[in-house]
Amino acid sequence: MPDETHTILEFERSAMACRFGISVVGDDPVWLHRAVDEAFAEIVRLESLLSMYDHDSVLSALNRSAGGQPVHVDDEVFELLLVAGTYWEQTGGAFDPTMGPLVRLWRGWRSSGMPPIKAAIDEVRDRVGMEHVCVDVDHQTVAFDRPGMELDLGAIGKGYAVDRALEVLTDHGIEHCFVHSGTSTVAARGSMAPDADGWGLGIVNLSDANDLSGTLMLQNQASARSDQVNQHYELDGRVLGHVIDPRTGWPAPADSGILVISPSATEADALSTAGLVMGEHVVDELAPAFPDARIYRFTAAEAPWMNETTG
Ligand code: AMP
Ligand code: MG
Repeated sequence: MPDETHTILEFERSAMACRFGISVVGDDPVWLHRAVDEAFAEIVRLESLLSMYDHDSVLSALNRSAGGQPVHVDDEVFELLLVAGTYWEQTGGAFDPTMGPLVRLWRGWRSSGMPPIKAAIDEVRDRVGMEHVCVDVDHQTVAFDRPGMELDLGAIGKGYAVDRALEVLTDHGIEHCFVHSGTSTVAARGSMAPDADGWGLGIVNLSDANDLSGTLMLQNQASARSDQVNQHYELDGRVLGHVIDPRTGWPAPADSGILVISPSATEADALSTAGLVMGEHVVDELAPAFPDARIYRFTAAEAPWMNETTG
């Protein structure tokens, strides 16, 4: 527990197209500042590895070259790709780290305001699917079995960065700390105050983004929330979001949200994205494979903490 002499310091920085936040508790500001600087540096380092939108990232280089011969992949990116592959299997393909081409297609339509063309979606869907990625563990290589594929780790990268940043802080001996990426993915160690049971996280009601209508307490746990609230748009009278259903090539419905509490932010991030695609049976379908996670599905009218279905 932090004692009364401890202060809580809070920091925010932009990375991975969002605001990362770090809170730390301790009695030595110099030590805390140094640890926080290193944690942010870790997040920036990971962005330079994992961003699909940064032409110079390690992932972008891999995407450009893996359409031909197998290419050797950086240790950490390869490891994360293997992890992503297990989530792809365990979610029945709802989480798919090869969504890049479909994501770009929908972004293009979104910015042009043009309605989607079925033939274009069908053409792009041929270039999506983890089953088309040949991963050779012995040689640490990756090859796409067709041209035009693109790995997109956007649904897991922020969670991974949150886990790694928290690890940097704990490696510095900080026992009470909290890291979030744009508030949607968080990880917490210890407690925010002497009399607290962890770190309190306000949860935004889906129907009103200004309504912090519940507090979730996290201690030595992570959580991620996926919904289409902040990223939805309308096209041809349909409400669409940024998470795409790999089975149809269309955005998943924008009327529900998923909250996952799990030992790791990486897992919570991947599962919450998958949950939007999996729909109303997500909890029953995922719970057996993830006994350490709690998964909640809620609609705009519901509060997530009211709707626990597995534990
Ligand atoms: P998140 O905000 O964690 O739910 O991740 C959403 C991002 O993941 C999107 O902006 C896409 O880049 C990517 N994405 C979209 N659909 C999927 C999917 N079905 N599986 C994995 N990644 C996806
Ligand atoms: Mg995610």
